Amino acid sequence: MCICVNCEYVDRCMTYHAVETQHQQPNLTENPNFEPNEPSINVNIRPTNDVIEMEWDVVGCLSFKEEKGKWSKLRPGELVPT
Ligand code: SF4
Repeated sequence: MCICVNCEYVDRCMTYHAVETQHQQPNLTENPNFEPNEPSINVNIRPTNDVIEMEWDVVGCLSFKEEKGKWSKLRPGELVPT
């Protein structure tokens, strides 16, 4: 799971914005203005029949600042992206 969903910067962060775009998810913001310090992204590649699924997860980041449930607070009632 992406650590960003519990990070204070999730709705401003350029890297999380790129991850949302890769997952074809609606963006929390159209204008991210926070550039994180050394995010590490884990890319899982899953070939299924005709398509290759790619899953991007931020697994480490020097800028990570814990705010538990930040994503859920912004999108109450929605399923937290995994
Ligand atoms: S953990 Fe890093 S990449 Fe993820 S939202 Fe926070 S600052 Fe951005």
